[in-house]
Amino acid sequence: MAERRCYAEAMESEAPEIDIGFNLDDAISRIHAAALEAGAVPPDDGRAKDPAHTAEAHLHSVDPGGRCSRSPCRVAGLGLALHEMTQFRAELETLAPFRLAAVSTHELLGAFRAVGADYLTGLLEHGKAAHRFEGQIDASVATHDHDLLCIRPVRILLKLADVFKELKEFDGKLREVFWSAELQQPGGKKRGARLLTAVCQHLYWGGVSYKEIHELAHGQSGNNGVADKIRMRVGSPDARSLFPRDHLVERDLPRATRSPAAKKRVRRGSSS
Ligand SMILES: [Zn+2]
Ligand SMILES: [Zn+2]
Repeated sequence: MAERRCYAEAMESEAPEIDIGFNLDDAISRIHAAALEAGAVPPDDGRAKDPAHTAEAHLHSVDPGGRCSRSPCRVAGLGLALHEMTQFRAELETLAPFRLAAVSTHELLGAFRAVGADYLTGLLEHGKAAHRFEGQIDASVATHDHDLLCIRPVRILLKLADVFKELKEFDGKLREVFWSAELQQPGGKKRGARLLTAVCQHLYWGGVSYKEIHELAHGQSGNNGVADKIRMRVGSPDARSLFPRDHLVERDLPRATRSPAAKKRVRRGSSS
């Protein structure tokens, strides 16, 4: 059963913290440094100071004769990952009222669901029983307050159903305001690390190895096990909020597949 929470209490509170599965500021610092090292901006360029500006600095394109056409392009991959993270950080701050509204709307929907079908059914049953009883006796005698037991509960339930429908649509529209797939997720407890997925997908597109992606995102060197986890993440549904122009033709994402080692284990198991 959904956790019940007072609406007024929800409105007074701040939007809850989000567990995004990695340390955002640290990852921004590491990927910013890697982008500068890869030549994202010319030396002494003012844009080097700000990760958001560095992210925008490299104009990557496959237009014939124009801009950078390396494939894969490490600088573009790092820049897109950086953009994804700085955009998330900016949205978290500038669109805070939208996020709070989305979280509160989601909680309100949960409260509606929790009461839902049971609300007022006791009264309606009571009214129905009174009608059955009336059928057995002289109908000119009033046995119950028909308006209070039968008419008004139904009217209220119909109105609530309308409000519920409107809130559900509102909840969806509020989340569409965000560019970041992380913030488009419903406000419930179960979340996927969509920003982390987007960052891994951008880096993969830029030709960064699974092990280095893990290092850039988490700040620790990785073994084959973590490389497999990154591979699965890269192959999961696309979480990127913006795309390199040539992503469909040049270096599309792989499908989420088990690691070659896991496949071998399955093959060996089936042949024996
Ligand atoms: Zn490029
Ligand atoms: Zn009645």
